[in-house]
Amino acid sequence: MASKTAPQPPPSLVGGVLVGVLGLQGDFREHIQKLESLGVTTRDVRRTSDLDGLDALILPGGESTAVAILESSKAAHGIFDEIQKLGRAGLPIWGTCMGSILLAKDIEGSKQGRLSLMNITVRRNAFGPQRFSAEQPLDIPALGAKPFPGVFIRAPLITHVGKDVEVLGKVENGIVMAREKNLLATVFHPEVVDDTRVHEYFLKMIE
Ligand code: GLN
Repeated sequence: MASKTAPQPPPSLVGGVLVGVLGLQGDFREHIQKLESLGVTTRDVRRTSDLDGLDALILPGGESTAVAILESSKAAHGIFDEIQKLGRAGLPIWGTCMGSILLAKDIEGSKQGRLSLMNITVRRNAFGPQRFSAEQPLDIPALGAKPFPGVFIRAPLITHVGKDVEVLGKVENGIVMAREKNLLATVFHPEVVDDTRVHEYFLKMIE
């Protein structure tokens, strides 16, 4: 008889791994749910002390200018500096959509606050003023042969990468997924689709 229980995550991904999700603004809850469905312990990160003891950190989608402003609030004060230090020390950090903007060293035409950790240039709202999300199957060989459902919501594109940055996925006008050592950027939203392969890819970066 077929079992009705949910598919179990691979054992190597569970047990003792603590992944933080920056919860200042944006769709952090979706990432937390996705990680918990994979058996991972999570923490909603809102202040500097929440970064203690993390094995990895996710910067979710949202509004990058709003997060840069919230970062200067009393409770979150200094959190970008601390994330920067951890990223430079090798903590696995994954930015989705807005998170990829925060990770970038260069944001075309903008001086807004950022972490400047990853040697990439991003163009904000590169798909124009999308009011609704667009979905497009993406060819990402590192995830296997099956296309990944790419959901784009007022998404940026990565328009340039520096040395040591591995391009993992592209569309016609630019790069949609890239990795630089312990840092991962996706301009689409894997947390809102059923496919867990990008989350699993990131969890493997902890090992
Ligand atoms: N357009 C947003 C920004 O520039 C990013 C959108 C998103 O994260 N879904 O910050």
